[in-house]
Amino acid sequence: MDARLEAIRDTVLARNPGEAEFHQAVVEVFESLGPVHDRHPEFLEAAILERLCEPERQIIFRVPWTDDQGRVQINRGFRVEFNSALGPYKGGLRFHPSVYLGIVKFLGFEQIFKNALTGMPIGGGKGGSDFDPRGRSDAEVMRFCQSFMTELYRHIGEYTDVPAGDIGVGGREIGYLFGQYKRITNRYESGVLTGKGISWGGSLVRPEATGFGTVIFTEEMLKTRGTSFDGQRVVVSGSGNVAINAVAKAQSLGATVVACSDSSGYIVDEAGIDVGLLRQVKELERGRLKDYALRRSGVAYVEAGSVWDVDATVALPCATQNELDGDAAARLVRNGLVAIGEGANMPSTREAVAVFQEAGVLFGPGKAANAGGVATSALEMQQNASRDSWSFEHTEQRLTDIMVGIHHRCASTADEYGEPGNYVLGANIGGFVKVADAMLAQGLI
Ligand code: GLU
Repeated sequence: MDARLEAIRDTVLARNPGEAEFHQAVVEVFESLGPVHDRHPEFLEAAILERLCEPERQIIFRVPWTDDQGRVQINRGFRVEFNSALGPYKGGLRFHPSVYLGIVKFLGFEQIFKNALTGMPIGGGKGGSDFDPRGRSDAEVMRFCQSFMTELYRHIGEYTDVPAGDIGVGGREIGYLFGQYKRITNRYESGVLTGKGISWGGSLVRPEATGFGTVIFTEEMLKTRGTSFDGQRVVVSGSGNVAINAVAKAQSLGATVVACSDSSGYIVDEAGIDVGLLRQVKELERGRLKDYALRRSGVAYVEAGSVWDVDATVALPCATQNELDGDAAARLVRNGLVAIGEGANMPSTREAVAVFQEAGVLFGPGKAANAGGVATSALEMQQNASRDSWSFEHTEQRLTDIMVGIHHRCASTADEYGEPGNYVLGANIGGFVKVADAMLAQGLI
């Protein structure tokens, strides 16, 4: 890494102790940015990097609620408003027991660059709670969401900060959050949250967008090698919203998706995953993958090991951060991997990324490959602002154009900086320069 950037990095790491995921995200971006600072010394003079690593605002709050037994429960809520150079803070809320400030900051930091790459007018932010929705009744989830919004409402707004979903936050949670926002503010402010239900201000394609977008981006990478998804053997990790829609889109392009996973194990379905059954089990019944295996013949359910033990030509990690390590990457490469598109945020460890890059595997980092979700959130904001709602076909075409545009921006930036095919470099520099230019123009704030 560039010596000037090393010194800034060390200061950032020292100022944010104990936040391993945030450190990882920062270091990964800094490693790409040396050549930009050679060309743009004005970024260093204006301390753009130091400012970028310090969130504009960080909110941490108590979330008290009562469970179905009438017992008081306390969780911790977060919203990190990271950067508003390009537009209102935009990014999801994650409800998962692992959530702490370091996770929210890594996600918020990544979101700045991801949102810049979409070309839409959105800044970067992220939030969430260590609340675990798993095993909770709808009524408990509703009481939690109402309490969460009772603090959050004062910090957000369609021109200020626009949350959405992430792990543990889907249509049900967005509904409860929106209801409470409306009740407190007495405003039907559609553009304050995205991922809403289609009958009350949501956008068609938003539920599919992250998974679809990841596959569209990966298809663009495959095209640069004269190939496509058609005939590929695909392994997907996870079985939530992103994973399910990645499976559906990959198969619609002629691939066979042979495996996906949940936190207990994974399934191998050599005939190709039955998306209808997967949706039934995971989305409608909120069940486990084990139930999928019980209902379909020829499916193996494996509890030990990792889904990355299954050989594939294309891998789509769509579960969570650091789910794919260096050993798994080496195994995938040995087994004939051609391309990897990250549907989750930072699913590959630094070691894994190095293995893929050394092996010449096409590697689409999450901040580019999974940007379709937030991009379609921005399309939802557009529809809300004009009190309009678009057809599925029109919205899907917009998503496709945006993903093809992101691929082009990453590829051409990598070319421009002398590293063709390096999508990590292309995404980091492409996103950074846009934000840095806007920050310079807006003065020292
Ligand atoms: N949580 C998603 C992401 O990681 C979507 C955020 C949004 O739609 O605002 O980009």
